[in-house]
Amino acid sequence: MIAEIIINSNVKKLNKTFDYIIPKELENSIAVGSRALVPFGNKKTLEEGFVVGIKETSEYMSKLKEIAKVENKVYLSKEKLELATWLAHKCFCNVSDCIKLMLPPGTTTKVLSNRINDKKQNFVYLTKDAEEIEQDIKNRKIKSDKQIRALRFLIDNLNNEILSTELQMFADVTNAVIKTLEKNGYIEILEKEVERNPFLHKTIEKSKNLVLTEEQQDAFEQINASLQFNEYEEFLLFGVTGSGKTEIYIQLIEEALKLGKDSIMLVPEISLTPQTVNRFLSRFGEEKIAVLHSQLSIGERFDQWKKIERGTAKIVIGARSAIFAPVQNLGLIIIDEEHDDSYKSEMSPRYNAKEIASYLGEKHNVPVVLGSATPDMNTYYKALNKEVRLLELTKRANNASLPEVEIVDLRNELANGNKTMISLNLQKAIKENLQNKKQTILFLNRRGFATFIMCRDCGYTAKCKNCDITLTYHLKQNKLKCHYCGYETNALTICPECKSKNIRYFGTGTQKLEEQIKQLFPEASTIRMDVDTVTKKNSHEDILNSFKNDGIDILIGTQMVVKGHDFPNVTLVGVIAADSSLNIDDYRAHERTFQTLTQVEGRAGRGQDKGKVIVQTYNPDTFCIQYAQKHDYKLFFDTEIHLRKQLRYPPFCDIILIGISSKSYEELEKISKNIYKDLKNKIKTEKLQILLYNPVPFPIDKIKNKYRWRIIVKCKIEEKIINAISSTVIGIDKQIKNSKNDTRIVVDVNPVNMM
Ligand code: ADP
Ligand code: ZN
Ligand code: ZN
Repeated sequence: MIAEIIINSNVKKLNKTFDYIIPKELENSIAVGSRALVPFGNKKTLEEGFVVGIKETSEYMSKLKEIAKVENKVYLSKEKLELATWLAHKCFCNVSDCIKLMLPPGTTTKVLSNRINDKKQNFVYLTKDAEEIEQDIKNRKIKSDKQIRALRFLIDNLNNEILSTELQMFADVTNAVIKTLEKNGYIEILEKEVERNPFLHKTIEKSKNLVLTEEQQDAFEQINASLQFNEYEEFLLFGVTGSGKTEIYIQLIEEALKLGKDSIMLVPEISLTPQTVNRFLSRFGEEKIAVLHSQLSIGERFDQWKKIERGTAKIVIGARSAIFAPVQNLGLIIIDEEHDDSYKSEMSPRYNAKEIASYLGEKHNVPVVLGSATPDMNTYYKALNKEVRLLELTKRANNASLPEVEIVDLRNELANGNKTMISLNLQKAIKENLQNKKQTILFLNRRGFATFIMCRDCGYTAKCKNCDITLTYHLKQNKLKCHYCGYETNALTICPECKSKNIRYFGTGTQKLEEQIKQLFPEASTIRMDVDTVTKKNSHEDILNSFKNDGIDILIGTQMVVKGHDFPNVTLVGVIAADSSLNIDDYRAHERTFQTLTQVEGRAGRGQDKGKVIVQTYNPDTFCIQYAQKHDYKLFFDTEIHLRKQLRYPPFCDIILIGISSKSYEELEKISKNIYKDLKNKIKTEKLQILLYNPVPFPIDKIKNKYRWRIIVKCKIEEKIINAISSTVIGIDKQIKNSKNDTRIVVDVNPVNMM
């Protein structure tokens, strides 16, 4: 018998399978999905791999080696292996990385036996970044195998909370090893109070199903039909904030349960709060629910995973990667806030959970429900083209009205001598709110690092003449650049529209805002939430809870404040600068601005009192701001879709980003140009229907001493193009295989972040 094996390696060309002879004595213990150790090439050590197929004979029979060892356990179902192979191809990455997404959290060999129930526990965090550590390992600064194992385990699980005891078990090291790493400055051990599972183990009062409104009932019935008849169909549940989407999810999940089927519900990482989970707990009880979340320690995630695998948990609630949960009998997939960026992975494998959901929906013949108040333009476009069935909820379920939105033109503020970030109207509204003992949220949308130039008198911003994208200001060269096509021009000192000299570059922060608020309202209590205040010790959940429960007057924050919480006492929301998401150099700038404003508006007036939103902007006439004021998604969509069509952006094409990074600028330039040339040739020889742009630096063109360039490809993605780009990248990867400059090539399909 012959086994086809995928080698567990990060070398791209090892994505194909290799044939190995199955020794007689292993025949009974091997199966598709088993993990095996095999000799490979002229390496002295054995390589790890996964069995992806078993067959009678091989065309290379005489040259084959034997499998050395097999672990007597099936790790992956055949379906999951197929998914991994499909995904690797689609995401331009190696199969073994995709397989890792589908394995239980942590390693696969050791099971946690004695759980620790102390309330205070030691968590381990890396203090250096992965590259630095790998460098130290290479330079033999770290020699001990055990230390290396522990560090690599932490690197592999960067997004998880890891307990010291878990590190000991999973990486198979002693406490002494961990202490040594701490002493040598590689890790930090923090004692934290933990609930064993912050999302579960709560006594929660049972709640009953609500009687659905007519709109809800109609949506429910259409999805339920597809659930009952085992049909794959995608639904866009397009309902304003508070229209009762969650209630529909709950009742659908209940139907799936009655059929003995499992449901997976994805929620954006940041919205996956106890508040969210409680609604499901109160309906279904703890037993049937598993929560997968990066705030759980890895052992807890492991427990949750096993609970799903055993079939005990039949409802999985989780962030992006929960789409790979090992459910036994899939019946329903729900993706809430489907427009959210967090469904697309920005690390390899750069997959989009929505695409995986479609794949699984089709394979298992189950409905996929995409819910949002501000759908992704691509999804809504599909809905209009009848590829996705559109279900609408136009009213708030509890009859609360949407807040009144006032737009403040910041150009007048300067003229009136107000140089703070807070307009006079907003100041007045905050003051009133303080007097009425109501709470205020001030929202400063600051994305990425890009700064842009704007005329403070007329609101003019410089845009690329080819791409209609805001040009980014580069301080060093004093130039404005387009990061899509490479167009550049000198920075302005005089506004071309109104000839004013009041040109400013923008990129202000929450800290400054807080200072100004404290000066204007010394009596008000404030709390700030941004990347600086949200730390490992101080989660965003803690800050929001404190705002809600400690009677703090004003919450100041970045986009983190937008999601996942209900603040009944918040009656005023101020958007400090709607322009900052408008002027990022991304074709989705309008869409992002509209979505963010709409989501922010959804925060105000959730309780008894009517809410008010004040949006400050230098571009009061911009359609996305205008339509957000009217809460009118469709008008927004109609306008934006025309622009997209004219300029050939998604949904009219896909964008493939080829990112190249290197410590050597020369090598970076050479490799980038080689990729470009190679693809340019293929356009001719293989008649590829693609638009290929010149290699240009990323907006952030250097990170940690590595230079970064990118090549953008616009096309309708298809097999031929995937293969062409794949072969180009694999070919050029060979040239850099032995490079000392840490040169890398990554390919990202429809990335959320082009920076
Ligand atoms: P969404 O998920 O669309 O934001 P929710 O499901 O959270 O909306 O519903 C908003 C509020 O309306 C919640 O407090 C919920 O309990 C309530 N609600 C939802 N459906 C109904 C209904 N059919 N009858 C009464 N109240 C409802
Ligand atoms: Zn001007
Ligand atoms: Zn351009």
